[in-house]
Amino acid sequence: MTGGWLYEIFRSVQGEGIYTGVMQVFVRLSGCGFSCSYCDTEAAKKRVESCICRMPGGAVELENPVSPEAAATLTLSLAAMPGTHSISITGGEPLEQPEFLADFLELARRGGLPIYLETSGLDTAGLESILPLVDIVSLDIKLPSLCGGDSVFPAYRETLNIAVDKALFCKIVIAAGADLKEFKEAVKLIAAVDAGIPLVIQPATPAGACIPPDPQVLLDLAALAAPLLEDVRIIPQCHLMLGLP
Ligand code: SF4
Repeated sequence: MTGGWLYEIFRSVQGEGIYTGVMQVFVRLSGCGFSCSYCDTEAAKKRVESCICRMPGGAVELENPVSPEAAATLTLSLAAMPGTHSISITGGEPLEQPEFLADFLELARRGGLPIYLETSGLDTAGLESILPLVDIVSLDIKLPSLCGGDSVFPAYRETLNIAVDKALFCKIVIAAGADLKEFKEAVKLIAAVDAGIPLVIQPATPAGACIPPDPQVLLDLAALAAPLLEDVRIIPQCHLMLGLP
């Protein structure tokens, strides 16, 4: 079995997207090749020496790479707490470690909870390989003007077609400097696959050099997307308002 480079495992409230408010166990993988201007998990972008697991009895530290069995044991222990909705796989970018995820998810699914994957989705081969083990996909569409990489849209067309049979929703983070033409292109891509896929416009949370968008811009973007998509929402990062991870 392939070990995984993890940053943390903890139980908290989902604060983004259409599942905002549900309790989840978060498994945050470390490592990410992107450089989003609004990144709120900078510490998880590099592979770290150990993973912190916040358990009810106190923190447990696991040396990286963590075996799928060890990660699944702690994850399932947290997932067994009453009221847990699902297990969230996040990062960093989880798809940088598809072999670990394939082994880990086989074990994590034994708890009977849905698996929720948060990803940029640009590694289409990695996504395809683990998709049978995933129930919900939160697809973070990265605008090149905020995240770099100028040829992401052909890959997103493929990603949307691969993931459309799952409980899929899309999220686009907007900060000052976002190119509205890119937003429009992303909306058209989603609509071409299925106009019923929900879209969440998420204003970036101010931190460091990240400047949030003008609120009027959010309304303008929602108005721009509404003729093409059936379900468009503006939702900020709610967990951060509560001071939760
Ligand atoms: S993809 Fe996620 S972890 Fe990577 S830089 Fe962007 S926001 Fe940060």
